[in-house]
Amino acid sequence: MLKLRLNSEKRVILFFIILIMSFIMADEAYAQSGKKITTVVIDAGHGGKDPGAVGKKAKEKDVTLSVAKMTGDYIKQYCPDVKVVYTRSSDVFVSLLRRAQIANEKNADLFISIHCNANASPQPCGVETFVMGEHRNAANLEVAKLENAAIMYEENAQEDYNNFNPNSTEAYIMLSFFQSEYKNASLNLAEHIQNQLVQRVGRKDRGVQQAGFLVLYKTAMPSVLVEIGFLSNPAEENFLNSKDGQTYIASALFRAFRDYKNAYEKENVTEGPAYENNNIAAATDKVLYKVQIESRNRKVDNPSQHYKGLKDVSYYEHNGQYKYTAGSFDTKKEADEYCKTVKTKGYTSAFVISMKNGIRL
Ligand SMILES: [Zn+2]
Repeated sequence: MLKLRLNSEKRVILFFIILIMSFIMADEAYAQSGKKITTVVIDAGHGGKDPGAVGKKAKEKDVTLSVAKMTGDYIKQYCPDVKVVYTRSSDVFVSLLRRAQIANEKNADLFISIHCNANASPQPCGVETFVMGEHRNAANLEVAKLENAAIMYEENAQEDYNNFNPNSTEAYIMLSFFQSEYKNASLNLAEHIQNQLVQRVGRKDRGVQQAGFLVLYKTAMPSVLVEIGFLSNPAEENFLNSKDGQTYIASALFRAFRDYKNAYEKENVTEGPAYENNNIAAATDKVLYKVQIESRNRKVDNPSQHYKGLKDVSYYEHNGQYKYTAGSFDTKKEADEYCKTVKTKGYTSAFVISMKNGIRL
């Protein structure tokens, strides 16, 4: 290895070279920003000889196809700049591997796989959205086993999935090593989907989950698999089998897509660090005074839009809650003054807090 013996003068020069390089690199990072979501793949689970879960009246392959098409139609209608690609648009069988290949060939920005759940008991109901990862409980493993069993209908399964046995728990531990570099983005999209399905369509929340899905592990983009309800639950089957139910679900999936897209493209604008990095400014030993606006269970998608008219909107986390603040002042007096302004904008329970190093004192 080369040993660098530098005198102090050279060290100063080296320091400046590194400094300048880092500015150039930061600049390039910004130049890459402004990226847009231009292609989304909508994957209707199962199809053809593979019916998926079967309820008393409905088959999963029919429900997923219908919801997939409606979701795609909404995206085409309201986001005309986005290209919608379906892995299937009719009742045909498509292998799990082929679905991922389609997404990769089209250079898709997002992959959304739509499925229905089923259980031996008629009780379970609700929605859950999966990303590729290690399952944390037996129920998640069961969902993955059920969905991966689709490869039983495939002729080249042994070859295509390296002798993967969808019923072997060990196989899933191996599969979970495929940690996607898109995991955070996938989790983010999954949050949007759960949020919409639960808060806007009133479905029971089973949360964002992780497990090993063969349809997800080869996609080279943020990817999720959403279980839109249980065909084994009579009430939910009726909902999923109805035109109304499918319309609600599809519009929720569309809104989740739109919200993700808006947030993603907003974060990519060339104005420097995203709003969520505001706390970096507070990472000094200086005490700063801020006005706490409100406390929320979930992050706000687009804070500058949501808290329009308020300045320096930021947040900190405490006990799993997101506490949103506005303003940032050196003195309590200035913060008290701004707090009055915030209250006139409708945030009547706003109050002043002091922070140091991004932590509330
Ligand atoms: Zn399925």
